[in-house]
Amino acid sequence: MFPQFSLQYSRLPERFYQHFEPAPVKRPRLIAFNRGLAEQLGFDLSAYPGDDKAAEYFAGNLIPPGAEPLAQAYAGHQFGGFVPQLGDGRAVLLGEVLDRNGCLRDIQLKGAGRTPFSRGGDGRAPLGPVLREYVVSEAMHALGIPTTRALAAVSTGEHVYREIPMPGGILTRVAASHIRVGTFEYFAARGDLEGLKRLADHVIARHYPSLASLADDQRYLALVENVQLQQARLIARWMGVGFIHGVMNTDNTSTAGETIDYGPCAFMEKYDPRTVFSSIDQNGRYAYGNQPAIGQWNIARFAETLLPLIDSDQHRAIERATELIQRFPALYRAEWLAVMRAKLGLCRDDKEDFALAEALLAAMHSGRADFTLTFRRLCDCAESPAHDEPLLALFEQAQAVEAWLPRWRERLTEEPASAAEVADRMRRTNPFYIPRNHLVEHMIEAAIERDDYLPLHRLNEVLARPFDEQPGRERYAQPATPQEQVYRTFC
Ligand code: AMP
Ligand code: MG
Ligand code: MG
Repeated sequence: MFPQFSLQYSRLPERFYQHFEPAPVKRPRLIAFNRGLAEQLGFDLSAYPGDDKAAEYFAGNLIPPGAEPLAQAYAGHQFGGFVPQLGDGRAVLLGEVLDRNGCLRDIQLKGAGRTPFSRGGDGRAPLGPVLREYVVSEAMHALGIPTTRALAAVSTGEHVYREIPMPGGILTRVAASHIRVGTFEYFAARGDLEGLKRLADHVIARHYPSLASLADDQRYLALVENVQLQQARLIARWMGVGFIHGVMNTDNTSTAGETIDYGPCAFMEKYDPRTVFSSIDQNGRYAYGNQPAIGQWNIARFAETLLPLIDSDQHRAIERATELIQRFPALYRAEWLAVMRAKLGLCRDDKEDFALAEALLAAMHSGRADFTLTFRRLCDCAESPAHDEPLLALFEQAQAVEAWLPRWRERLTEEPASAAEVADRMRRTNPFYIPRNHLVEHMIEAAIERDDYLPLHRLNEVLARPFDEQPGRERYAQPATPQEQVYRTFC
């Protein structure tokens, strides 16, 4: 059933990873399997061995032919503090496959047991967070945001102990690669220049092939420049859907520019830049509004690892890298403005657009309005002021948004499109459905407490088409009631 593996990472020097065999689990059961993604990856579904056998593969009990299971070494800054050795403590990379588009994709089992990098951990994952990552990563993909994907989820038939016993799960995750800023930090911290160069050239070949022909004194700075652009772009996209990653540590920052490692992530409902959900983020370091600044901080850590390769004169290397990193705010601002223009139905550039977008956010903040529904109802307002009432009803105080609407309408007159065209365009960029936290929590509760996976499948179906209003599924678009409100998320 598995496509042929085209092993890449395991060809890197031995010190980049540790080979190991995942520990089998007692009673693997297939909870979800992403057929569409499997097809894209070149799986032969006519040779599908049945759910029971598939579960054995996605649990790590059976290893597909040609795979070479390994745990990747990496380090990372966690909440600002450096940890020189982390590594895959509960994940195993089976290998890479070439997908239908000719792109290499990692196939990784997360929760597959102890590895040489497990430190004190048990190598396992509770089923709840596995299902959260499945649903949210697939939702992000449907929203058009670069992300790792979910190929399969299994329950293990074993308990995982996290203060209380919980059912265990394993996620099969697919990524452009799992190479992180923290992977570079691992070699830099060891003063392993040769390893660093091998890694950088590997990332260039894999993700930024156009840089391969640059001279040494240009190539590594260009790598930082490219990764920086991908991060600025990614975070702007997160901000555009109200996504809060929750653990933006450098070991969770992909050099391929994908959203990676869904832990206590969540979507904001009422707009407030200080919003934090993660139970482990006590100081709000990774609050919604801090994400761009953290993105820059993470790229600065990335650049530091490459200083010895950027320039043989270290003063000059620091100068060149600093000059580059200082461009992050302007880059991010341009990416964010592009996202906001699209959300507001604007194609042309007007120098007042930034202020226009900020003014709407300020109105949403003071009016405690739902982020997603505000933009969705604004699509109707683009068609006609007759639709303003449902928008205004989202605001606890509507004066600010009432004052804002005529400003926006005036700006729309500069656009070369009809009202219906603008509204239509807006509906393809402002989702009706997002994975609201209470829906995700209900889905997890049904799975864990009642062995009921219908809410999981329904939620996946709804979120696969986030821009289409699906008849009979309006409740999936509604914010949490006060009783349903989720204040904390756990990983
Ligand atoms: P995360 O917070 O999920 O990004 O993980 C940070 C580090 O902790 C990584 O090195 C993980 O592999 C490791 N880790 C997380 N959970 C476990 C676990 N249950 N067992 C072993 N290692 C773990
Ligand atoms: Mg090898
Ligand atoms: Mg991680």
